Amino acid sequence: MAWLVGYPREKINWHPSIDPEKCVKCGMCMNCGRNVYDWTDEGPVVARPNQCIVGCNTCANLCMGNAISFPDKETVREIYKREKIWSKVKKQLAEEGTIKTKQKTEEKGGCCEGGCCR
Ligand code: SF4
Ligand code: SF4
Repeated sequence: MAWLVGYPREKINWHPSIDPEKCVKCGMCMNCGRNVYDWTDEGPVVARPNQCIVGCNTCANLCMGNAISFPDKETVREIYKREKIWSKVKKQLAEEGTIKTKQKTEEKGGCCEGGCCR
């Protein structure tokens, strides 16, 4: 997965959870383009959690019952910082030509003054 640049997806705790008490079975979550959910007689279930795109929460935003929740995003941000995923993604995007980076930034080895991505 490009946005994880080789970091194991299963080590990142990011996937939807459904509160069945709140679910009104509107079916909006089934629009997920990553095929994370299956529909059952009882409604949707999170069948393939690791296919969820890290950082995405579209289904929660559109859920009619407000029944979908995600882990604390700060824990994910901590992993991205600790494992230098941000800097690796940026490097890959630059190599692909998707983004342009300044020479000065590359020499410093980071994207900001905060040191988060070095
Ligand atoms: S979008 Fe929410 S309320 Fe609708 S079926 Fe999915 S979990 Fe249930
Ligand atoms: S957050 Fe995005 S990728 Fe993950 S299950 Fe919901 S719609 Fe699919």
